Amino acid sequence: MSATIPGYRGLLRQLTRALAAPARDECVIAVVLIDFEVLSELDGVLGLATVDRLVREAARRLADVLPGSDRVGYTGRHQLACLLAGLDSEMHAVLAAHKIMRTLAAPLDLGKRRLTLSPRLGIAYAHRARHDPDELLRQASKALLRARRQREPYAAYAPEDDSNVLMLGMDLWAELGHAIEESDVYLVYQPQLCLASGRLENAEALLRWTHPQHGPVRPDTMVQLAEGTELIARLTTWVINTALRACTEFRLAGLDTGVSINFSADNLRDPELVEIVAQALDVWGVPAAKVVVELTETAVMTDNVGALDTLLCLKEMGLRISMDDFGTGYSSMARLRDLPLDEIKIDMSFIRGVTTLPHHQQIVASMINLGHSLGLRVVAEGVEDQDTCDCLRDMGCDLIQGYLIGRPARLPDFIAAMQG
Ligand code: C2E
Ligand code: CA
Ligand code: CA
Repeated sequence: MSATIPGYRGLLRQLTRALAAPARDECVIAVVLIDFEVLSELDGVLGLATVDRLVREAARRLADVLPGSDRVGYTGRHQLACLLAGLDSEMHAVLAAHKIMRTLAAPLDLGKRRLTLSPRLGIAYAHRARHDPDELLRQASKALLRARRQREPYAAYAPEDDSNVLMLGMDLWAELGHAIEESDVYLVYQPQLCLASGRLENAEALLRWTHPQHGPVRPDTMVQLAEGTELIARLTTWVINTALRACTEFRLAGLDTGVSINFSADNLRDPELVEIVAQALDVWGVPAAKVVVELTETAVMTDNVGALDTLLCLKEMGLRISMDDFGTGYSSMARLRDLPLDEIKIDMSFIRGVTTLPHHQQIVASMINLGHSLGLRVVAEGVEDQDTCDCLRDMGCDLIQGYLIGRPARLPDFIAAMQG
């Protein structure tokens, strides 16, 4: 690393000095932490020395463009920090952040190749000497974590960052990685019954993780923790393989049951997803038609680049595509028509009132009709009592899922309950 660009300790000393220096009342000091996407992957491709050179070049550029009172330093092999002293307001820190992004967005020369880095920034502010330097760096780091999770180019620290699930998530995130390796994460299976035939058609695979201190962690929290990080691909690969293996177990136990798997918006953006699914089908010998991919409306409706291509590939491979939580998102009719869907799953919030609230009944009836007129299979989730089941049968619903048929259960219990 360059002699003129300090490392973490040097930067901390400068920060301590800046925070202690007498300053105008309204003066703001900001710390900006800068991470780069894919640098750790580039280590393997370009070699550690070249990546170090890239980071050094980025730091030198910043040192050149920032005013003399500001400092640039290294806080990790792939991370830089800027100390912006004597800003007039927090807004000026945001302007400086934009300048940092512009500076780092210019391609870097690597001999024969040119490379563009994707920086992500976390910003924390201090007003005069009220801050502890360590605390300020921690706040910038929390902001950076949120920027990464929300896929924003930058985020400024907000007090909610301390209390929200993401912060609890910092520790949990690392533990989730171990939990997947150590098999502390597992799947449970919930039956879906075909109303016409009375047959057990499918089992929805749902994630479970009981944390040794925090107890059960909600599956959507787990997915939220993993999203935006490399964990999501590992988690999904694990879910797909575990669920398909379960599908072969169903068959061995004499059950002709398919499996439904939940995919997140991030999954659909992953260019490797199709390959992971293809391999898993091959390894476990499961026919593609036995697998349903459940997606929420928001995952497919937001401007999710590549999501539609991924869906089309999965569909072409023979998997069935289901729209989960139907009725809660923002599906336009055109989008519904254009998506390669096989099924809609009416959200349980509509199913709950189906026997007691006339307008819920009307809404559910129209959803079923809409689904059928588009040639789709209709599933109702959250069916808890016989009256609701009868009502749905009368309305022509195809499949039902819910506590009435069975609660989500571990594989051996699921198989035993379905055989019995
Ligand atoms: P979801 O896909 O809408 O799953 C249905 C949720 O309703 C499940 O909660 C299930 O246990 C619950 N449920 C089923 N029947 C009934 C019922 O009769 N009454 C009531 N009150 N609840 C019922 P769970 O397992 O906590 O999952 C919550 C959400 O977490 C899921 O919502 C899904 O969005 C997400 N999730 C679960 N597993 C995965 C996964 O492997 N990958 C991804 N991406 N998301 C997952
Ligand atoms: Ca689902
Ligand atoms: Ca659902």
